[in-house]
Amino acid sequence: LGTGKAPVAKPPVLSGVRHVVAVASGKGGVGKSTTSVNLALGLRSLGLKVGILDADIHGPSLPTLLALHGRPRLGKDRRLRPMQAFGLQAMSMGLMVDQETAMVWRGPMVMSAITQMLSDVDWGNLDVLIIDMPPGTGDAQLAIAQGTDLAGAVIVSTPQDLALIDARRGIAMFRKVDVPILGVIENMAHFICPDCGGRHTLFGEGGAQAEARRLGAPYLGAVPLTMELRRASDSGQPIVALDPDGALGQLYSGMARTLW
Ligand code: ADP
Repeated sequence: LGTGKAPVAKPPVLSGVRHVVAVASGKGGVGKSTTSVNLALGLRSLGLKVGILDADIHGPSLPTLLALHGRPRLGKDRRLRPMQAFGLQAMSMGLMVDQETAMVWRGPMVMSAITQMLSDVDWGNLDVLIIDMPPGTGDAQLAIAQGTDLAGAVIVSTPQDLALIDARRGIAMFRKVDVPILGVIENMAHFICPDCGGRHTLFGEGGAQAEARRLGAPYLGAVPLTMELRRASDSGQPIVALDPDGALGQLYSGMARTLW
């Protein structure tokens, strides 16, 4: 890769998992975790066996998004069993490591924790494992991209220039390690005012779609900024599980269908 760094250890085996898909963003806070969870549930609504791994050590969101409590069980084989939530198999760094300690971990420790998590969890048989990637394009992201035989990556960005610049870096990283971009999702694309019904493009418009076109990557769609989605996520009841037939539920299922 021309980075001058030592190559990452041999890929951990995710036996029993047919496809591993990374959901990534350049910047934090653009809705990557929200998208990962709802996309995973959208894939599940197609009748697939789906797992989700929250690989963000410094800001794990899965325990909140899926209302996960307690610790994952350790099997007799000394491998961890994922937790169950809304029909998904779920595992998060947030369930495994003390957050205050993890906050001060340096790169090599983060990487070894991620590598261990990839090899020490028994996912059983899955059609798809979604990896909710840590934001950015550092060593941890490379360790996952190189170490997991990814089928591809889905990039989440807001329409804003700053988020797009970072998303572009993420795309470049995946391309460098020959991971195909399976799709681009524009999140927080617009806001419909509940009072006046007006449509407001708070972060600009169409940026992610234009970027997808420029890259020749599939554009999976735009998700509006809505109170409903934010509330559902905060309450640990993802919108696709809460209201599968609603507009947002259908939107994510549609994106999952395109992806599959
Ligand atoms: P990231 O994983 O990129 O850091 P999150 O998925 O944690 O981002 O989202 C950040 C915050 O924005 C969360 O509070 C989430 O509920 C909220 N959020 C994400 N997408 C939307 C959306 N489309 N509409 C409303 N709120 C959203």
